[in-house]
Amino acid sequence: MWTTYGQDHLLRQLEPGLRQGRQSHAYLLVGPPQVGKMSLAINLAQAVNCLEGPGVPCGSCTQCTRIVQGHHADIRVLIPGEGENARSARFAIGIVDVHEVLRRVSLNPFEGATSVVIVDGAESLTEDAANALLKMLEEPPPQVMFLLLTANESAVLATIRSRCQSLTLTPMSKDNMVERLVTERQVTNEEAEHLFRLSRGCLGWAINALDDSQILEQRQADLEKMREALDAGLETRFTYANEVASLFGSDRDAAKALLALWLRWWRDLLLIKEGAEEFLQNADHADSLRRQASSLNTAQIVRFINDLTQTLSNLDSNVSPRLAMEVLMLNLPIEAGQV
Ligand SMILES: [Zn+2]
Repeated sequence: MWTTYGQDHLLRQLEPGLRQGRQSHAYLLVGPPQVGKMSLAINLAQAVNCLEGPGVPCGSCTQCTRIVQGHHADIRVLIPGEGENARSARFAIGIVDVHEVLRRVSLNPFEGATSVVIVDGAESLTEDAANALLKMLEEPPPQVMFLLLTANESAVLATIRSRCQSLTLTPMSKDNMVERLVTERQVTNEEAEHLFRLSRGCLGWAINALDDSQILEQRQADLEKMREALDAGLETRFTYANEVASLFGSDRDAAKALLALWLRWWRDLLLIKEGAEEFLQNADHADSLRRQASSLNTAQIVRFINDLTQTLSNLDSNVSPRLAMEVLMLNLPIEAGQV
């Protein structure tokens, strides 16, 4: 059975080909972080190796269980910042790791019917690595399936994209997620709706937040810090800019998630200005948002939302994180002081 939720449109599309063993040799799984790309990749790896197959994975044979446990010898996962880059703090998937994986999959599968290569962050392949992978996608060996995962499709080399069948994962609907969380995780309706808003329909995020209370605590602390920065003078703001820049050096995803949190906060401010409070993502901070919105005008909010979006995009194109954050802090509206 599939354990990928909220993506029925893709499962319906994939099933007929899988049942007939006519799946594509390469898929590009596109969708926001924690929407379920890795779950779908694991399910696909199971589907092409399941002893009850071909078709929908049974989930209980030795192939299916060894894959989900991460023990299967023919399933290889490439993650940026690991392998050859683990000690260099370089956030990339490099040529050495890609060569090693390609060398192994050019041999016959060892344990199952099909070797599967999962690239978790296809936009992070270095140019060398992407070209090596491209060569293999152009002449794929039999019994190999490539699954390239990305939250940023446009940053994946166009020639690689053109060799893959694209699968776009979409966030879950509110009703679907609330029902799942209430029945399977025994949370109240209210908690489930809160998690839906914070996760923006990405089930993986909601489940992580339930399993690890630190995630919601961290969100509170991050929002607190953001409000402090608004109240503070330039010196404190620059200190904060440096903190975020060093976070970017040690944990790029966490730094981007932090800025995304800012972005959602500022969009909430705009929603209040537009009288659309029912759509607030940070509804648990409605009072604070209202107070802040009253001290800003709409043009200031829109301008800072643009600044934030630009900063996120600059960080993706490898500008100095420190410079990008300092510029952002200079643009943070001063008038917002009385939060
Ligand atoms: Zn199975």
